[in-house]
Formats: sequence, C-alpha cells, structure tokens
Amino acid sequence: MDLGIRGRKAIVCAGSKGLGKGCAMALAREGVEVTIIARGLEALEKTAAEIRAATGSTVNVVSADITKPEGRAAALAACPAPDILINNAGGPPPGDFRNWDRDIWMAAIDANMLTPIELIKATVDGMMSRKFGRIVNITSSAVKAPIDILGLSNGARSGLTGFVAGIARKTVEHNVTINNILPGLFGTDTMFSRVEAMAKANNMSFDDAKATRLKTIPAGRFGNPDEFGALCAFVCSAHASYLTGQNYLIDGGAYPGTF
Ligand code: NAP
Repeated sequence: MDLGIRGRKAIVCAGSKGLGKGCAMALAREGVEVTIIARGLEALEKTAAEIRAATGSTVNVVSADITKPEGRAAALAACPAPDILINNAGGPPPGDFRNWDRDIWMAAIDANMLTPIELIKATVDGMMSRKFGRIVNITSSAVKAPIDILGLSNGARSGLTGFVAGIARKTVEHNVTINNILPGLFGTDTMFSRVEAMAKANNMSFDDAKATRLKTIPAGRFGNPDEFGALCAFVCSAHASYLTGQNYLIDGGAYPGTF
C-alpha cells in the first residue's frame, strides 16, 4: 500500500533509538524526509546512516535535548515547516510518589506533556494553512491502564492526552490530525533497563525478570520497534485523514478490556 506521503517532511523527536527510530525508519521507507532529534550525536549519526542505507531517503540529524526550549528551536530550525511531527522523549523514572517533589514532577510534566504541546503549538497553524498535517504523540499503555510505580508517567501523559482530545477536533477539518500511540512492552534499551532494575529490586536474574514480564503479554513476546513504526506511518498516511483524537494501544494483547 502506498501511504501517499512521499516527499513530505517529518520531525521525529527522540529518534535515534527504540520507538522513535522505528517511526523514522517507517516514514523514510515511504519516501518522507526525516529530521531526527536526540541528545547523543553518535547514535544519531549511526541511525541516520542506517535509515539512509535502508530507504534512500534524506535524513537530517539534530543533536539536542528536545525538552529544552533551545532544543526545540534547533529542531524547528532544521525542519521549519514539517508535515509530520512525532512527539517523543525519554520517559520519567519509576518510584514512590512520596519521594517526588515539585522539581521531579515538573521535569516529568516538561518532558512528557509540555514539550509535545509546545511543538504542536509551533507547527499546527502552518500545517493547517498547508492543508496537511499529521501529529503523533508517543505516550504509553499506562495512560489506559496505569502502572503504580509509573505515577509520573501516568500523570504527565494523561495531561497530554486530555489536551490532545480537545485540540484534535479543531484541526481535522484542515486535514491535520493529532493522535496518540500507546506502546505496551517493546524490546528497547529503556524497557530492558527497567527489566534489569526489576531483577535487582527483586533479587532475580535478568532472564527470570524478563520471563516474568513476558508472562503478562498474550503475544508471548516483546514488541518490535519496526511494528510500532508501521502503525505510526499509517496514522501519518494520506489515508488517515478521518482519524483524529484517538489513542491506539499496541501491546500484544496485554490490556485485558473489551474497549
Ligand atoms: P529508547 O529505546 O531508550 O530510546 C530513547 C530515545 O529517546 C533515544 O533516541 C534517546 O536518545 C532519546 N531521548 C531521550 N531523552 C531525550 C531528550 N530529552 N531529548 C531528545 N531525545 C531524547 O526508549 P523507547 O523505549 O523507544 O521509549 C520511547 C518513549 O516511549 C519513552 O517515553 C518511554 O517511556 C515510552 N514507552 C516505552 C515503552 C517500551 O516498552 N519501550 C513502553 C511504554 C512507553 P538520547 O538519549 O541520545 O537523547
């Protein structure tokens, strides 16, 4: 299926690894010019080379912290009129809410709520005037089924989800959609570092901790960032102009509810 986005331009935040990289690769496969942002230049360059070799698409890199105003300015300077915006950043740490002070909360809210809102604010009017725009926020299955030790994530991402639910109805008549994709457990560095922390906290081996996590997934495996990217690319496609304000869970069947 041709997704109808060849020649479009995308900003992919936190795109050097994991889910962001999966999205950048899938968009580049469709002929989209991608600008990937992350802090570490080495991983960015490596990923950019990999995507160029696999797809032949143009890949620009911006080494910046997307949660800082100057990082967002650098991303927008490299791609001033994006057709597609993938909002993503590292997730907040797990913990006990009793230990979180205002600074810890503000860091989580900055990274996982206000940064995507700032980038939407900076790009959405241009998208509406050009009559095409696709904004995807990478959030978490924790928005739908909260995880107790991820209270910072549950809170900050739910705030973003509420904001998006309102604005996504205002942009769609201009062919600009805003949606969230909610990953369950995907085999990425972040997820494996959480498994390692779980193993240490429970005095288990890494393999036992991994097996415990896998038991919670009906698919019997962790997700692959490429399949996350494929869903993202479809949500960004020309065919998806009637989808907006939605939350797409991709979790191998882990969420047990009917809806
Ligand atoms: P990952 O594989 O560890 O990759 C994280 C990416 O984000 C890297 O490219 C990293 O590069 C970049 N990054 C982190 N902080 C950044 C910042 N401040 N500015 C710019 N780039 C930044 O992580 P992932 O698993 O793909 O996770 C992506 C998001 O999905 C996170 O918010 C995570 O909490 C959420 N999530 C993941 C899962 C899962 O199972 N994987 C499940 C639910 C939610 P640098 O470090 O070089 O900046």
